[in-house]
Amino acid sequence: MARTDEHGAGPETADAVRWHALGPDAVLARLGSDAAQGLTGEEARARATRFGPNEIREGRQRGRLAMLAAQFADVMILLLIGAAILSGVIGELADTLVILAIVVLNAAIGFAQEARAARAVAALRRLAAPTAVALRDGHPDHLPADRLVPGDIVLIEAGNAIPADLRLLEAAGLQLGEASLTGESVPVVKHVAAAPADQPLAERHGMAYKGTVVLNGRGRGVVVATGMATELGRIAAMLETAAAPRTPLQQRLTVFGRQIAIAAILICALIFGIGLLRGEAPLLMLLTALSLAVAAIPEALPAVVTVLLALGASRMARAQALIRRLPAVETLGSVTTICSDKTGTLTLNDMRLTEVWAGGQRQAVAALDEHAPLLRALLLCNDIAVDETAHAIGDPTEIALWRAAADAGLDRGREAALTPRVAELPFDSARRRMTTVHRDGNRFVVYTKGAPEAVLPLCATMTTGQGVTALDPEPIAQAAARMAEDGLRVLAIAQGARNAMPSGDALAELEQDLTFLGLVGLIDPPRPEARVAVETCRAAGIRPVMITGDHPVTARAIARALGIIGDGGDVVTGRELQSLDDPALARRVREASVFARVDPSEKIRIVTALQANGEIVAMTGDGVNDAPALAHADIGVAMGRGGTDVAREAASLVLLDDNFATIVAAVREGRRIYDNVRKFVRFVVACNSAEIWAIFLAPFFGLPVPLVPIQILWINLVTDGLPGLALAAEPGEPDIMSRPPRPPREGLFDNGMLWDVFWSGLVMAAITLFTEAGALRLGDTHWQTMVFTVLTFVQMWQIMAIRSSRASLFTQGLLSNRPLLGAIGLTFALQMAVIYTPGLNGAFNAAPLTAAELAVCVLASSLIFILLELVKWVRRLRARRRQAA
Ligand code: ATP
Repeated sequence: MARTDEHGAGPETADAVRWHALGPDAVLARLGSDAAQGLTGEEARARATRFGPNEIREGRQRGRLAMLAAQFADVMILLLIGAAILSGVIGELADTLVILAIVVLNAAIGFAQEARAARAVAALRRLAAPTAVALRDGHPDHLPADRLVPGDIVLIEAGNAIPADLRLLEAAGLQLGEASLTGESVPVVKHVAAAPADQPLAERHGMAYKGTVVLNGRGRGVVVATGMATELGRIAAMLETAAAPRTPLQQRLTVFGRQIAIAAILICALIFGIGLLRGEAPLLMLLTALSLAVAAIPEALPAVVTVLLALGASRMARAQALIRRLPAVETLGSVTTICSDKTGTLTLNDMRLTEVWAGGQRQAVAALDEHAPLLRALLLCNDIAVDETAHAIGDPTEIALWRAAADAGLDRGREAALTPRVAELPFDSARRRMTTVHRDGNRFVVYTKGAPEAVLPLCATMTTGQGVTALDPEPIAQAAARMAEDGLRVLAIAQGARNAMPSGDALAELEQDLTFLGLVGLIDPPRPEARVAVETCRAAGIRPVMITGDHPVTARAIARALGIIGDGGDVVTGRELQSLDDPALARRVREASVFARVDPSEKIRIVTALQANGEIVAMTGDGVNDAPALAHADIGVAMGRGGTDVAREAASLVLLDDNFATIVAAVREGRRIYDNVRKFVRFVVACNSAEIWAIFLAPFFGLPVPLVPIQILWINLVTDGLPGLALAAEPGEPDIMSRPPRPPREGLFDNGMLWDVFWSGLVMAAITLFTEAGALRLGDTHWQTMVFTVLTFVQMWQIMAIRSSRASLFTQGLLSNRPLLGAIGLTFALQMAVIYTPGLNGAFNAAPLTAAELAVCVLASSLIFILLELVKWVRRLRARRRQAA
């Protein structure tokens, strides 16, 4: 869609306007915007209709028609269609029509499944859509990034993904990662000055382009291009969505499916050969063999597994855990260690200032004089934004500090007007402090706040009851330690005065010769549900590990309150971490579960050390520096509320509620989904092998071919599709979180499943052949309808019994999977319809069964259920004995 407009933001004219060559004021004038007010809501709406949404249109997607056509693009299906048509030509027109109908139905089901999976995946992607902060009507507004329009004023800070092409108006220590656009991996320092018009893209320092990320600092820019008009949009053709990578499970299933296919084709060829030798009609035998091959080859397995995984992922999203990569659903079930941040994930991130230590003693905040420098420092050395409803947006630590100062009577707007900020050294987790500089008449006042050990070394003096004296670190350290033992986050506050501003690069000189003003202690209560989640982890064989930037003493207090460590549990500090080499660290992480004063950049070493010990690691993170560790962990977990776009990009799971307990819930869900996939595979493979066995073995017992091709196809249609899918709704087994994690290398058929599939397939075939032999011996003319019905019913009985691999159906509760009951009911009804509907039964070579015959079918087929339940009972008994021994 091409657009042109007076702002020149349309694709045709974007080239003409060299935004980077214009000064900020000229850009604002051209775009009709205001740096302090932004656009009005009304104007933004008008521009939205003119420019359309700010989104990159996706590359070519497989159309519905192609998806449908793909359902028929299978050699076996094509052969079957060919054979059916051939038999029609010879005169069996009814057969041809029914076979074609079944094939079409089969394709429709396959199509519906695939479309459903695609929908679920698309819905997940929509949930993960990025947001941006733009000024509208003079207030910062959090909005979905696709609603941005040219002229919007966007606020950016470290961790943001740039939501549209921006001409920068303000840049404070702003550094961008532009690798995605220019391939340049070194951070690019940004400033607002205009550049020569012919500056290449990679050197336009006044611009921030969509798709790049803020690594450091903060800034403000005006949107000059959105959506396909952005630089990223221009190269969007290169970003055509690649096919989603297959999960390890899907890969294994594809290989497995191929092996089964080869085996099935060989057996079917054999059946065809034997049939010919016995003098059966060649075309009939060909159709039989082909139908059997179509029924036996589990070609839909990988697709159905995608559906199971995607359905599971959408269920997780409802429980606040957003899966960004499908394979994560599988890996979740294998997680052995969960490394979690403290603040906000294990705690509520609901900070409140509860203690102040100033002038050499504890004081109430309210007791501080409203003119106290400490209070002004809390207010001004602070980056929160306040929206029109007086609601603060920003770092919870800073919100708590602002609130305390505001409660004590200080007004942020007034103070900021009196002493406007002129420079800053932004907070980062490695420095653990931040500094701002404010003009105060013709002098400058410096405020620094941060971790005590990061601030005290900058101080030469301190305020006491007697005024300003030389710094005495001893009582301060004692006070800080006491606060930390109570689990408080402790910050030191300092101030300095300067006659002149240092020149550009020498800003760091500001953090010298400061005067210590006091300590503040913030409480951040542990999340009540985190304690329970920690216990659940323990029972499930998963070790929770806390990694925090906070002080070791604070960290220990919180870890103990949550049960992560006991009374004597030790804490590894960032300094110790640095002193350990990799093998030593690998040994250390076996025992230690709390890491404090750790820079996010060191998290990757912890992940690597744990992985070296064979652990499967989930790791949380929210900042830019967390991204490498998130990408490296088996499951990177980012925060949906507090986290940065960069961390979310690197993660495979996003916690919409930032809550540790949600990770544990996701692990549970991951285990459940994997269990269900296994049950589904077990069900399908056992059923298919039963069909093959029955037809293959019949001649060896001197029995005629038990089923006609249409019946084989029908059984495949009604049993594989619905009941199999209903297993997605199967609730987790009772012991799901009291058994150890699944070893990641464990194959799908390990743990005896291959054997179970083998014998239950044989037993189901035996039941079918016994029914055939018995009915034939009694001269029952309905023998084939009985075989047809028994083979359908055994599969229903089987699925009921394998809903749990351990518990009996009766403890599980018959009603605990209603979709499955519904599916079984429907299958039963369809089978009855095929047998009893006049005309239809003829097409299926079936006849109405008498009540007695039907009862025999139900009872005979129930044998498999009884046997499977017996086996589970014996296994439970043995397990109990083993436990007792
Ligand atoms: P966790 O890793 O548990 O989530 P965290 O990420 O909040 O903790 P950081 O944000 O890295 O840890 O903070 C580390 C230290 O830096 C804190 O203990 C505190 O002393 C100091 N600090 C935190 N926030 C600020 C801030 N806004 N200004 C100044 N110093 C801060």
